[in-house]
Amino acid sequence: MDTELFRRIWQTHIENHEHGGHPTVSEMYDFLITGNLSDGNSILAHLSRCSVCRAEFHKMLEALKETEALDIALPQLAGTKNIGGFLKIDTEGGKYTIIIQRSLKEKDIGMITVEVAENYREKLEGDAIILEDRKGRKLLEGTIVNGQVSQKVRDLENIDIQRFKIRRR
Ligand SMILES: [Zn+2]
Repeated sequence: MDTELFRRIWQTHIENHEHGGHPTVSEMYDFLITGNLSDGNSILAHLSRCSVCRAEFHKMLEALKETEALDIALPQLAGTKNIGGFLKIDTEGGKYTIIIQRSLKEKDIGMITVEVAENYREKLEGDAIILEDRKGRKLLEGTIVNGQVSQKVRDLENIDIQRFKIRRR
């Protein structure tokens, strides 16, 4: 994906568009990944008027630029503020679900699972992946078997849950 191209396209569309409803995060993400301009035009038009969505769009853009991410998750957009006992978040590309479960006995230890969505099971089986938080802390590293990877994680409180990134190992 050529992110510079998107930046340019976006900048040229900043003028005089009708204000529509907010696109969903998934719609913006799809547009970023596929570059489909027939759907993208209405999104670009909206971004030109809406600073809230524009900020989110740029956040995604930056997240995708940082690495050759396979997928990203932005839990704060789903309204998740802290981990609590359980966090479950679908990635924006819809390929994975990230699940964090806190141990009942030891509060700072938990289990992290990356689950592959039903539609991608066959395709992604056997992939070696790495899950990182926003600060680049490696939370999980493993091979997808039977549609998932799990790993014990320590220091749960210090996971930066504002953004997760899944990349190839
Ligand atoms: Zn908006």
